[in-house]
Amino acid sequence: MTQMDNTPVPGRGGKPFTRRKFIATAIGAAAAWGGYSYFFGSQYRAAKADRKVDVLLIGGGIMSATLGVYLKELEPNWTCEVFERLDKVAEESSNGWNNAGTGHSALCELNYTPMDDKGNVHIAQAININENFQISRQFWAHQVRKGVLGNPREFINSTPHMNLVFGQENREFIRKRVEALKASPLFAGMEMTTDPAKIAEWIPIMMEGRKPDEMVTATRSPLGTDVNLGEITRQFYKHLSGNAGVKVTTGHEVRSITRNEDGTWRVSAFDTNDSSRIQTVDARNVFIGAGGAALPLLQLSGIPEAKQYGGFPVGVDGLCADKP
Ligand SMILES: Cc1cc2nc3c(=O)[nH]c(=O)nc-3n(C[C@H](O)[C@H](O)[C@H](O)COP(=O)(O)OP(=O)(O)OC[C@H]3O[C@@H](n4cnc5c(N)ncnc54)[C@H](O)[C@@H]3O)c2cc1C
Repeated sequence: MTQMDNTPVPGRGGKPFTRRKFIATAIGAAAAWGGYSYFFGSQYRAAKADRKVDVLLIGGGIMSATLGVYLKELEPNWTCEVFERLDKVAEESSNGWNNAGTGHSALCELNYTPMDDKGNVHIAQAININENFQISRQFWAHQVRKGVLGNPREFINSTPHMNLVFGQENREFIRKRVEALKASPLFAGMEMTTDPAKIAEWIPIMMEGRKPDEMVTATRSPLGTDVNLGEITRQFYKHLSGNAGVKVTTGHEVRSITRNEDGTWRVSAFDTNDSSRIQTVDARNVFIGAGGAALPLLQLSGIPEAKQYGGFPVGVDGLCADKP
């Protein structure tokens, strides 16, 4: 820092503060970090990086793994580093035990076919999701051919996707949905039934103990898949780790993302067993693939785009914000 003026620079959450304040904070914090580092607003900033990389991926789930594999193929000479806070990759949402495992293709996800006030069911979003899923399958097939992924049965298998709904209103919605989806070959073969005996054949456990007069409606698509995102993630990281120029560091949590004057990003990851051990990289590009923890990291970066997002856990019906 060579000049002292009042030019605003981004701090935590993009909140601007002056260089004068910044330097005061820096000097104050330097002692705490043995003169090696200081605080940038309220976040730590290392005085220098341990190494430079072309791409830094934060988080060891399917998102970072996929981008890493893409980049290694498109830009094989780029250096790449991954920081994952847990001791292994693929332990959070991408882990096979932590998600339902349906390859999301709108065969059973009713929210992708909303109904408007006039009772029309719209399928554009369902088609978009389904097409995207087919692109994922093409990408995985390509990786199988290249030997990056193993036997497809290890991570993708055919499984019918089904819905079960109750009552007249939902039955009407399902009827319109199936009718509308028939227009696209992506949803070929989808069956609908209102016969409890047929549904009991399809999904016996769901029908056990129900009253015989309960109004039930079900759909069944033979095109569904069961996908183990965790297995794909582990195989992708195994491949990436074997590449020159790629470093995967687990047990390290990213707690600081600041911008350097040359436009690169200084990112520090703290050892989760001993937070005095810190690794810092300067990265030309950073991808935040931190799942549910992505938003606070995005805010740390200070980029204005971070302000436009909110997050909430599935299962609640409210948002909470410090500054609504
Ligand atoms: C209950 C549930 C059911 C689901 N069902 C389906 C389904 O049926 N079909 C489907 O397609 N999708 C489903 N999903 C969604 C799917 O699982 C996720 O979209 C996907 O796994 C997200 O991958 P990710 O890489 O973004 O996040 P994650 O797999 O969560 O990876 C993020 C990683 O970042 C790490 N991390 C976080 N903060 C930091 C930090 N500061 N520093 C370093 N590392 C950090 C975490 O430890 C984690 O390993 C479901 C999700 C849930 C929760």
